[in-house]
Amino acid sequence: MLIVQKFGGSSLADVSRIRRGAQRAIYEAKQGNQVVVVVSAQGDTTDNLVSAAAAIAPNPSAREMDSYLATGEQMSAGLMAMAIAQQGFPAISLTGWQAGIATDGHYGDARVLGLSNDRIRNELSKGKIVVVTGFQGINENNDITTLGRGGSDTTAVALAAYLQADKCQIYTDVDGVYDRDPRIFPDAVRYDEIDYEAMLTLARQGAQVLHDRAVELAKEHGVRIQVLSSFRPGPGTMVTALS
Ligand code: ADP
Ligand code: ASP
Ligand code: MG
Repeated sequence: MLIVQKFGGSSLADVSRIRRGAQRAIYEAKQGNQVVVVVSAQGDTTDNLVSAAAAIAPNPSAREMDSYLATGEQMSAGLMAMAIAQQGFPAISLTGWQAGIATDGHYGDARVLGLSNDRIRNELSKGKIVVVTGFQGINENNDITTLGRGGSDTTAVALAAYLQADKCQIYTDVDGVYDRDPRIFPDAVRYDEIDYEAMLTLARQGAQVLHDRAVELAKEHGVRIQVLSSFRPGPGTMVTALS
């Protein structure tokens, strides 16, 4: 099987969490699966980068902002690949451009158009876990673009679609998709399964748990998404077509 696992910022916030993510990836690889790991920037890194840029320039160039913001994911990818290798499994990190993630030219809110090379497949066939930076790609001029805040989910779904993965797992800090934000409403109810339309409505209303474009892409390509907690075992939520 080919499995895409995405780890969000809070799931990578410190050394022990990165190690835990590495263990999850290695566990699947040792079962004989090919594993692609998509990483976000650690913790509040992207927010901190945005603040630092604002202190330099109130209206920065969108192109420069994207090359700058994409660095958070590059740090995570390097650390994750090192953590996997440290635990004895071969791994390689790839940035959006190395992985061939082609986007349109809308800096700050780019759309993924496809995969322009076979690098991920080639590295998988060498037996490596491939760690890919979320949230970024390149446009037709080879300039770095970002996919909008929360866009690492979209990277994971896009890779699952274009690599025809068997599973797309989104590891986050809640144990699935709820009818309301479970951090604000303690009586919120978790879905075992939710269909693309209902998930899209939640995402467009601002439920951060999945990027709206990730859900659109999943619907378009029939990617079944499993939303899981990095911290607690459990079945999570399956995001699928209406059954
Ligand atoms: P990550 O860093 O893993 O991408 P996010 O912060 O982007 O995580 O998304 C997870 C957060 O989404 C949760 O901590 C939760 O507060 C929030 N959230 C908002 N609405 C919902 C919902 N309906 N179901 C689950 N989580 C939700
Ligand atoms: N690091 C980016 C953000 O904070 C992308 C992501 O986390 O999905 O928006
Ligand atoms: Mg997110």
